[in-house]
Amino acid sequence: MKKRKKVVYRRHDRNEMPLLDPEIRKKYLNKEYALGYGHTVALDEADRCILCKKAPCTPSCPVNSEMEKWIEEIQKQNVFEAYKILRRNNPFSSVCGRVCPQERLCESTCVLTFKDNGLSVGIGGLERFVGDSIRMSGIDWIDEKEPPTGKSVGIIGAGPAGLSAAYFLARKGHDVTVYEALPFAGGVMRYGIPEARLDRRALDFEIELIKKLGVKIKTGVKVGVDIPFEDIRNAHDAVFIAAGSGRGKKMGIPGEDLKGVYTAIGYLMKVNTDYIDPMLAPEEDIELPRNKRVAVIGGGFTAVDCLITSVRLGNETHLIYRRTRETSSARDEEWDHVAEEGVILHWLTQPIEVIGNEKGEVVGLKCVKMELVPDEKGGRPRPKPVEGSEHIIECDVVIMAVGQGDNPTAYKDVPNLKIDKWNNLSTVDSKFRTNVEGIFAGGDVVNGGDTVVTAIAHGKKAAQSIHEYLTTGVWAYGEEEEEVKA
Ligand SMILES: Cc1cc2nc3c(=O)[nH]c(=O)nc-3n(C[C@H](O)[C@H](O)[C@H](O)COP(=O)(O)OP(=O)(O)OC[C@H]3O[C@@H](n4cnc5c(N)ncnc54)[C@H](O)[C@@H]3O)c2cc1C
Ligand code: SF4
Repeated sequence: MKKRKKVVYRRHDRNEMPLLDPEIRKKYLNKEYALGYGHTVALDEADRCILCKKAPCTPSCPVNSEMEKWIEEIQKQNVFEAYKILRRNNPFSSVCGRVCPQERLCESTCVLTFKDNGLSVGIGGLERFVGDSIRMSGIDWIDEKEPPTGKSVGIIGAGPAGLSAAYFLARKGHDVTVYEALPFAGGVMRYGIPEARLDRRALDFEIELIKKLGVKIKTGVKVGVDIPFEDIRNAHDAVFIAAGSGRGKKMGIPGEDLKGVYTAIGYLMKVNTDYIDPMLAPEEDIELPRNKRVAVIGGGFTAVDCLITSVRLGNETHLIYRRTRETSSARDEEWDHVAEEGVILHWLTQPIEVIGNEKGEVVGLKCVKMELVPDEKGGRPRPKPVEGSEHIIECDVVIMAVGQGDNPTAYKDVPNLKIDKWNNLSTVDSKFRTNVEGIFAGGDVVNGGDTVVTAIAHGKKAAQSIHEYLTTGVWAYGEEEEEVKA
């Protein structure tokens, strides 16, 4: 009998992602600060993977990325094959390798972490390595696709959900047109996440590959304003709504209409694209703060992006968050990164008023200290104000990164469409069908806001359902059926 090869568990010697020195990275708004694995490091990191037969990381990735297969290809030094496998499940590997919260997803179930405080394989770093290697090799990458079906699909929104659906549908041979309100494709990946975290060359490369499949992306077309939804529906055999849920909002506290108080979406759109769209942000224009004192309110991805960009614009930057670091939704390592760059972190602090001067300019933020108390309903601990703890944080600009609101512009007038109380489409069934025949929806417009990879997974599953509908003609909204597997 053939002897089984002894498995070597390298639980601790993970190759950490190299970063630019904080003093250097702070100087460059458009420079990515995580440098990525080079070839030898990537090969060594891939060698740490023990290639589990039933790899637990695959089901903990929303698109079921088949890590045990593509990491094995890196071990064999076959990056081309690795990218081919990655693209079976995800058209945005270079993006996900950078922005996914891997520690909560794929890396959280790595077998190396099961004992002795082991450290997971650097799955995100390896995924980025594969995508970047193909891009930088100059290969003219073309995905395989099936022969034309003669069916056409209209997609509203060119964010990760819409573009992912477009990719999988085009590979199935369908004719796909994406209608995008903004003058560029990418959704939050372009106007929200700053270049310091996501190199635009990586994003552009993966969008170009989708276009190479024949997908048409019509930018500057606001469905529900420039063209009625009905026209889109009439022009296609099926429609996928992937319009996100990305309207910037404020907190509703006194003083927030003062000059110098911005929504995070307005501010980030201005920094990242120099374009602010009234559908998504209330600000007509924003004078970007430079060498001022900026207070960012919030504790998620968006707050971190505001902090990173504010520091790079030369501002003294404060984070104000009503909970603790541990109970925030941003990635843990990113709090370390912003702290290294000099951001002043005010945890357990709740703003209650923006203070202005006689000219109507912001001069400070009145806050109270908070404490976490147990939630009576058994949920996560609740922040409660500490009596007599009012204080003022002096600042010139306030950016509110307190979540995004609904944006039903595209679908608000669709007759009989079930829209939920948040103006979103959480009313879809397990196959991403809305209650109106031929109309599907996915991404943030369904879940109200999650992650890039969840939006991609929705696009992938919806594409499979749309394909089934186009080829069988069966429409059974809400009927008990097995959920579509990503
Ligand atoms: C600032 C910020 C940072 C984030 N950082 C991360 C991160 O690091 N990692 C992570 O995993 N997730 C992150 N997220 C969350 C993630 O970006 C979203 O969950 C994801 O982009 C949702 O994808 P989507 O395609 O559903 O929507 P979107 O990305 O919002 O795309 C929707 C698109 O539809 C278009 N659209 C809207 N209405 C119309 C209309 N009427 N007609 C035509 N087009 C329309 C919009 O212009 C937009 O381009 C972040 C979110 C924000 C706001
Ligand atoms: S897509 Fe995201 S969650 Fe899935 S394997 Fe890649 S980095 Fe991990």
